Amino acid sequence: MSSQAPLNVLIVASEIYPLAKTGGLADATAALASALAHLGVNSQLVMPGYESAQDQARRLVVTAELPPRAGIGEGRLLSGLMPDSDVPVHLVDVPELYRDGGGLYVHADGSDRLNNPQRFAVLSHAVCDLAMGRLGHAASDIVHANDWHTGLVPLLLQQQRRNHRPGSVFTVHNMAFQGLCPLDQLPGLDIHVEGEAYAGIEYFGQASFLKSGLVFADWLTTVSPRYAEEICTPAFGFGLDGVIAARGDRLSGILNGIDCSIWSPERSPWLPAHYSAGNLEGKARCKAEIQRELGLDMAPDAPLMIFIGRLTWQKMADVLLEALPRLLDAEPDRQIVVLGEGDRNLELGYRELAGQYPGRLAIDVGYSEARAHRLHGGGDILLHGSRFEPCGLTQLYAMHFGTIPIVRPVGGLADTVIDATPAHLADDTATGFYFDNADAPGLLEAVDRAIALYRQPARWQRLQRAAMASNFSWQASAEQYLALYRRLAETYLAD
Ligand code: ADP
Repeated sequence: MSSQAPLNVLIVASEIYPLAKTGGLADATAALASALAHLGVNSQLVMPGYESAQDQARRLVVTAELPPRAGIGEGRLLSGLMPDSDVPVHLVDVPELYRDGGGLYVHADGSDRLNNPQRFAVLSHAVCDLAMGRLGHAASDIVHANDWHTGLVPLLLQQQRRNHRPGSVFTVHNMAFQGLCPLDQLPGLDIHVEGEAYAGIEYFGQASFLKSGLVFADWLTTVSPRYAEEICTPAFGFGLDGVIAARGDRLSGILNGIDCSIWSPERSPWLPAHYSAGNLEGKARCKAEIQRELGLDMAPDAPLMIFIGRLTWQKMADVLLEALPRLLDAEPDRQIVVLGEGDRNLELGYRELAGQYPGRLAIDVGYSEARAHRLHGGGDILLHGSRFEPCGLTQLYAMHFGTIPIVRPVGGLADTVIDATPAHLADDTATGFYFDNADAPGLLEAVDRAIALYRQPARWQRLQRAAMASNFSWQASAEQYLALYRRLAETYLAD
């Protein structure tokens, strides 16, 4: 095929913003599809037909009946457009699997959905049929699958005839989530693996959807160059480092970007005032509003620290919880806001602290897109310790909003934040603060350094301007994906 013909790229994920979101995966898949469309790619999205997705997608119509697979009787493919762009989206509509209330991966009471293997096997079969042109839509040139939920897609595609199937890309957004199920469940999911294929999915006596994606995809990517190196090592590979290292010649790290039409201090509809690097005045109003909204002392000069994210071990939410009293006791004007949900025990721990520092600590156990924007707008410092971080979008949003991140230099955090060393401060390249040890003393020390600089407003503003000037647009990353797709398409479509 000609290297310049428009490519049909099908991007599949379990969550896509704003149709459904629990984390960065949703933001990344939506933004990539739209950045690719701007590059002339025919990018289409496909995901489960959750209630929230059906409510928000535009012009949905039934375009196919799904063949019975993986134990489900009936299902339909709904096709329409994304709410805020003309990117086509397909929803795999099987009400018993995706529309029974509760969260994307857990029931309403927080317990795991035991039928997750079936839910995502059904999705994967539908994607394979769609991409092969069996559901009445044009066949895809490339299928881009994301995370364990879609790890069976590369396997199913590999079982099609070579040169008559799309090329497959599998992107790891997080190695910690692997999608395990008993091996003897596979036949019931219409997954048939023998010989070498069996070894490609078997993981310590179970089946791993993540491993399937890693082994069978034509190309692997992950969401930052540093994480691409890290996952080849035992410290970050979650038992699959050997599998990935063996495919090291087919692995690239492509940094996530941010969608600046959504995450913008100049335009975000959720901010009470707007601002830019050239004029930061509106940020002070955002700070006053968030202080009022959350019952914090109305102190314009008080350093306001924010945490936004999953309350989990990965995000060091346990360490932050332990450090909170010392963080606040160190100086009488420090303020902290925590917005997050996650592990039930950590949620409980944070809830218990609420009320203990009136006017200085606000705990919001929950999920709110609007409040996340307002916190980025009003905050001074983002607390973003992570034990590991594939890319991390939160620190990118923070920097774009002039909120200075404190991070551990792992994965995408190391690739995107420049430490405020004396040299980097002197040449105005610093954009945040690093700390090495994943413990409370490490975090406390970095906070002390950050607040010392915060109390020198002229220097702090230079840091803010450098952070806001960082360019994390999707354009460059989308171009890298496009180059990769073209290379693969030439291999798989060359007859
Ligand atoms: P991860 O995908 O590992 O959770 P990222 O930093 O890449 O971490 O992306 C997290 C995304 O989810 C960001 O858009 C962040 O604003 C959002 N987010 C996480 N928790 C919450 C919450 N409780 N309320 C609102 N937004 C949240």
